[in-house]
Amino acid sequence: MMNTVETKLKPYMVYDRHWGSEEGACLVFHFTSRQARYLGFRLVTRHWYAHDYIDVGASLIKNSTPWIYTVGNQEKLKANEPHVIESPDTCRECYMWGNPIDDNDVCEECETVVYD
Ligand SMILES: [Zn+2]
Repeated sequence: MMNTVETKLKPYMVYDRHWGSEEGACLVFHFTSRQARYLGFRLVTRHWYAHDYIDVGASLIKNSTPWIYTVGNQEKLKANEPHVIESPDTCRECYMWGNPIDDNDVCEECETVVYD
């Protein structure tokens, strides 16, 4: 069983809408998607291509909880302090993040492809 952190924060993937989440996304822990967008916005404009707040999207990550919480800052999660994980660890097969990654740095989806 995975340790579940007691937190009111939810995991959001924040990304540039024009390019999609495949081109780069950061992980934001916040209370609402609006707040997550706002917090991720400055980061997105600094690193990527979005120039307007409306260009930034935030989607709630549902398919990998509670695992995704292990990626966050445990202290801040417990304190309900919103924060950004700029570069979450990515899968070495598909270079994506958001799915649980095993000890071999392979995500659940690639695991089934590689080992089935
Ligand atoms: Zn993968």
